[in-house]
Amino acid sequence: MAIAHDSSRVRARDLIGLERHEIPAVHDLLDYLRYDDRGRLRVHGHDAHDLLTGAGAPLIWYLGDRVRANYRAVDGAYRAHFTGHRTFAAVKACYVKECLTVLREAGAGAEVMSALELQIALQTGFDPADVVSNGVGRSPEYADATVAAGVGLTVLDCPEDLATLAAACRRHGVRARVGLRVTPPVDHEGIYITPSSKLGVDWEGGEFLRLAKAALDTPEVEVVALHAHQVTHCSQPAKYRATLAGVADVARAVERELGLRFEVVDIGGGLETRFLLRRSGLGPEDFAAVAAEELGRIGYPFVLHIEPGRFLTADAAVGLTRVTAEKRNGEHRYLITEIGSNVLIDMAEVTYHPLPTVLPAPDAPWATYDVGDSTCAPALVCRTAALPDTPDNRLLLLLNCGAYSTVFTQLWAFRLPRYLFSDGDGPVRTVFDDEAQRTMYRALYGYEIRP
Ligand SMILES: *Cc1c(COP(=O)(O)O)cnc(C)c1O
Repeated sequence: MAIAHDSSRVRARDLIGLERHEIPAVHDLLDYLRYDDRGRLRVHGHDAHDLLTGAGAPLIWYLGDRVRANYRAVDGAYRAHFTGHRTFAAVKACYVKECLTVLREAGAGAEVMSALELQIALQTGFDPADVVSNGVGRSPEYADATVAAGVGLTVLDCPEDLATLAAACRRHGVRARVGLRVTPPVDHEGIYITPSSKLGVDWEGGEFLRLAKAALDTPEVEVVALHAHQVTHCSQPAKYRATLAGVADVARAVERELGLRFEVVDIGGGLETRFLLRRSGLGPEDFAAVAAEELGRIGYPFVLHIEPGRFLTADAAVGLTRVTAEKRNGEHRYLITEIGSNVLIDMAEVTYHPLPTVLPAPDAPWATYDVGDSTCAPALVCRTAALPDTPDNRLLLLLNCGAYSTVFTQLWAFRLPRYLFSDGDGPVRTVFDDEAQRTMYRALYGYEIRP
């Protein structure tokens, strides 16, 4: 009798950990991590093992200095090619107020996709003029909120969004600066947002030109920007080039057909985590150079906007967790972690690479593990992870935990980790604690949860 195995969702994916030789040298990939001469993993000065045993709970720890360094790296890379360039942090990748504050103070604007995120950006102190508002199927309330706040740029993603925004402008007696989100034809494998998708307005078939004409005929709006966001965790300059070639083609065709030159070209986000790019010998400079080459073909001056999310915060948080069991099944050896996939969300191709908090003796054996949590879902945080095969090795530090994870947190199955924040060698503060979590469960479900 055939038994159906449906682990394809997990199996089809990469989810591969660092190689064994990379682990002791992790400092080369992430400068805030280092194994000291006793083999103990340090996050800045702090001993990861002691921190975890002391706190007695899984933790997600955000590092403000890494957020700042990531911002400077990506902003500087594009600034080297584009005068008047601006970087807008995609708020949806990380709502932690301390991280957004670091980004604002470093000079970033904010990219928001809803009225809720607009509130988050404004409460974090972003100047409305430094906010790009995206979204498809904009509600009248969202349109009103962006118009009332006076956001710098509102991007339209369908004709009805134009009508909704124009109505809000009439109510407030103002004119809005708008961008138009295009989906150009792309000739490359594995692009995240391709023609005919829910997001963006297709260039092919004339949808985009129709929207552009309608916007030009709408007195309440001023068309200033072309917008495109088509890739996610992109680690291939060739893929990036393919999408930007399409953006340049669209800009040139719009000038030809409508005589319109865009003041701003916004190319969205979509870069892979910084340390993973570095691991493949790449950096934001490589992507910025590609952007300069392709967008240079537009043939007139414009202000470039980028909207990175993952790049800014993914490697700016680590997870710390106990291992609660080791299990063998067939050829697979599993380590089960306390930190759950209810917070380290099971997202396509996102790996939370585990590191031992203490290196074993040099002659200790290592093995290949699949690392997963104890939820009743086949989710894994990492597959094919090299880790010491020693009985005392029951504490792990997980990389890549800072983007999207806590935003997509789900309240089922397990208590959330405590969230910590520190900036450089400064004090480690708790920004989400057990009491906050108790309040959430009480308000949502009426349960009193105890530690
Ligand atoms: C999500 C999103 C981003 C950020 O994407 P990353 O892949 O995290 O860099 C930027 N712009 C828009 C419009 C988005 O929806």
